[in-house]
Amino acid sequence: MHASSTDTAIDSLRELFAASQRIVFFTGAGISTESGIPDFRSPGGLWSRMKPIYLQEFIASPEVRREAWRRRFDNRDGWVGAQPNQGHAAVAEWIRCGRATAVITQNVDNLHQVSGVPEAQVIELHGNATYAKCLTCHQRVELAVLEQEFKATGDVGPCNCGGIIKSATISFGQSMPELPMRRAQQETLRSDLFVVLGSSLTVMPAAEFPHIAHRNGARLVIVNREPTPLDEIADLVIHDSIGAVLGTIPP
Ligand code: ZN
Repeated sequence: MHASSTDTAIDSLRELFAASQRIVFFTGAGISTESGIPDFRSPGGLWSRMKPIYLQEFIASPEVRREAWRRRFDNRDGWVGAQPNQGHAAVAEWIRCGRATAVITQNVDNLHQVSGVPEAQVIELHGNATYAKCLTCHQRVELAVLEQEFKATGDVGPCNCGGIIKSATISFGQSMPELPMRRAQQETLRSDLFVVLGSSLTVMPAAEFPHIAHRNGARLVIVNREPTPLDEIADLVIHDSIGAVLGTIPP
């Protein structure tokens, strides 16, 4: 993008933010690649090199479960130690001042919470990879505890209730989580400005939310490195770095 057109786009973005009272952010892998976390879905990304594990296989096979834990504790997905960047900080700032009400995220890296967005205002559509849960009683289990067990015994045993313990992400073959989906819908319908940050908007049904916002009369902004299928209905599209763009318009 030409420098002057970027300046014009930033001015337009500033005006849209200034005119809005209920901003909702929708974030995807692109905000976290700026923290060095690989985009699993991109060509050459993790999922093109390593077969994803489906929930049904995980439940059916102890060997598959061991492979899943091996991957987790090898940090082959690359998120351990990653820190929030300028984009996360800007989102947290808009939430803190009360002008943005929620962050709907496709990411599982916990970086919105780390950057200071209260837990209650982060809506995770694909779960969270920084802890585990029992599939039966939903008890939370910390990864550090499981890692010790795995390193000592080569396995992760069942929960006290007998249920299978799994990373708290939504796996392939697992249905979308009901409560977050409902909350995301509510926040989207209440928003007057819907801001997509770093999502290619190709993963359904998550990508429906910008459509819903647009149909409901909210303004729609998309900041993403690459074009998205919704660019043509957006009020403003910026193909640039999220941190650089949001960093220029503090609340
Ligand atoms: Zn349990």
